[in-house]
Amino acid sequence: MCGIVGYVGAQNATPIIIDGLQRLEYRGYDSAGVAVFQDGAIHLRRDVGKLINLRNKLHADPIGGGIGIGHTRWATHGVPAEHNAHPHISMDGEFVVVHNGIVENYLELREELQAEGVEFKSETDTEVIVQLVARFAANGAQGDITEATRKAVGYLRGAHAIVVMSKRQPDRLVAVRIGNAGGVAIGLGDGENFIASDIPAILEQTRKMIFLETRQVATVWADHYMVQSLDGTPINVATHDIAWDPVSAAKGEFKHFMQKEIFEQARSLTDTIRGRVEFEREEIVLGDLVLTPEQARNLQRIVTVACGTSYYSGLVGKFYGENIAA
Ligand code: GLU
Repeated sequence: MCGIVGYVGAQNATPIIIDGLQRLEYRGYDSAGVAVFQDGAIHLRRDVGKLINLRNKLHADPIGGGIGIGHTRWATHGVPAEHNAHPHISMDGEFVVVHNGIVENYLELREELQAEGVEFKSETDTEVIVQLVARFAANGAQGDITEATRKAVGYLRGAHAIVVMSKRQPDRLVAVRIGNAGGVAIGLGDGENFIASDIPAILEQTRKMIFLETRQVATVWADHYMVQSLDGTPINVATHDIAWDPVSAAKGEFKHFMQKEIFEQARSLTDTIRGRVEFEREEIVLGDLVLTPEQARNLQRIVTVACGTSYYSGLVGKFYGENIAA
């Protein structure tokens, strides 16, 4: 599962973001990137493979500033490559986005934006989000990043966790949660605030956190924050004190682990499918299954080894498999 980390405050955002991403490494990813606002511009560093590659790149060509966003990507749309790694930047260079989830209607949105003259630099579904934000910032939102993001998100189908940074308002980050593509936690510090898809990323920094529910948007400055619904209605959210033990941290916003597992079903299913579907060619890609079509057709016996719930899943698979083979 991919990870998101954001920072706004007086420290240098880059090491805080990279450290947070490192703490989410166990979730798996294929590329990583960071964007920081420095000297009036947004600077990006991205690379494929492990975080060490990104670290080396940052070492050779450092960027730093008081506000930034970072991401570890698990590709769903577009191969793992530097140009597909997040953050993605708008054509006008004013906005950057990191995103967990899948924009289900990205093909039609991309065609619509291309017809308006937008040039895409990646094959990802995510890039439509940042181009939409730029479009609404220019038309109707008077450059306001929160309003432009709220408007853009209204066009997206699917489940998402999104963080947006803008060159025009470089004192704030905007975070959105739609459905269950992972959580959005806002860590409240002293004159600095943090955003993360998962608590462990920022638990070293602060134990005071708020959690976004679906269809909520948070605008986060260094010393305050504001939460709204997608239509702009202000919302009061409870602050949680996260206990400094790994079990409570892992349980996060949920009352108990069973509740967490129930709410994570959609995410688990997406994680299983992600990276194995070619949406444009409408094909299923099973890279681990090295069989020619000929070999697959000649299979005599398939054995599923499992216990508990996965045993029942295996039985469902047997049922489908036998129906297809019959
Ligand atoms: N769908 C996005 C992509 O392929 C986000 C993947 C993720 O959640 O890491 O770039």
